[in-house]
Amino acid sequence: MDSSQLIELSDLYGAHNYKPLPIVISRAERIWMWNVEGEKYMDMLSAYSAVSLGHCHPEIVKALCDQASKLCITSRAFHSDQLGLFSRDLCRLTGKSKILPMNTGAEAVETALKAARKWAYVKKGVAPDKARIICCKNNFHGRTTTIVGFSTDELYRKYFGPFTPGFDIVEFGDAKAAAEAVTPDTCAILAEPIQGEAGVLVPPDGYLKALRKICDENNILLMLDEIQTGFGRCGKLFAHQYEDIDCDVLILGKALGGGIYPVSAVAADDEVLGLFTPGEHGSTFGGNPLACACAREALKIMVRDDLAQRSHDLGERLMNGLRKINNPQIKEVRGKGLLTAVEFEKGDLSARDYCKRLMENGILAKETHDTTVRFAPPLIITEDEIDWALERITKAFEA
Ligand code: PLP
Repeated sequence: MDSSQLIELSDLYGAHNYKPLPIVISRAERIWMWNVEGEKYMDMLSAYSAVSLGHCHPEIVKALCDQASKLCITSRAFHSDQLGLFSRDLCRLTGKSKILPMNTGAEAVETALKAARKWAYVKKGVAPDKARIICCKNNFHGRTTTIVGFSTDELYRKYFGPFTPGFDIVEFGDAKAAAEAVTPDTCAILAEPIQGEAGVLVPPDGYLKALRKICDENNILLMLDEIQTGFGRCGKLFAHQYEDIDCDVLILGKALGGGIYPVSAVAADDEVLGLFTPGEHGSTFGGNPLACACAREALKIMVRDDLAQRSHDLGERLMNGLRKINNPQIKEVRGKGLLTAVEFEKGDLSARDYCKRLMENGILAKETHDTTVRFAPPLIITEDEIDWALERITKAFEA
């Protein structure tokens, strides 16, 4: 079948909860993707950072295949010989003493919310069912009903109430607003170090440090969602390391699975994750042997190849190039490391129109909202490939 027939099929039989670009991918390798007609494109989205190590990384494919031929799924009814090793490796990398593995990002966020609430009741002494969590305007933490309940995007919420209570929303980047929202029942502040889905919004310097201080002064957990920003994406292993702070609960996903398998996790100390008792939380697939094998290999490669530094250096090269593009509709180029975005003024062309132009020039990127195009290639991209991309992006944006 050709692309248009395949698109027709998925439109006919699939729910229309996404609006993909009109391209059907059938093969990918490193930073490159091919459609069913055999045309080659550069992937500058990386599945929203899930493919930070590049497509079909041979070492992760090997880890997957080796594990798949031995043991795939056990559930958590039994131990597997992989889970302890993965847990140890992720604890070492994050500096935390415990992890709780899940599958998707949203599940990891849900896990963090439950952990914070239990901590509130058992450790902080908040009265039953009174715990509150501070979240940020324009947040994106996933799609479950609890999570969309504290989204500020009408599209995500409108038809899906009633919602879970217990969340207070404050302006992102405004530490004073967060401080003012604190009550004796506040048990956590949940934030993204950089808001990816909102359009790669970078908060002012010192913001995370100020949140850390508020949490310390009020006995509150700082929970950072690094599902999109983590594992080198922003030029440090974790984006919050730019501010030289530590968080209490680190929420991870996407790149953790090496671009091959969905793996997410919460990392925290015993004080928080040690509170769960058997049966209070879980997932049939979370921490399965196949997931553990892929994630362990991914962690090994990220550190060995110093992808964070690479992302830092190549991100600057990409952003410098984007800033040279001559298009009066461009309002701002921003980002950190290889999580970058170009924001356009509202005008004749929408961000989606620009993404279509990029596609015609061999570049796959995706708009966020009406005015922003995000560029987040796999971190293994080379300097020459960045320059190749910049030539084409310039052509698409200046045309
Ligand atoms: N948190 C952040 C910061 C994200 O960017 C995303 C996905 O884009 C999620 C959570 C949800 O992850 P998932 O789609 O794997 O549930």
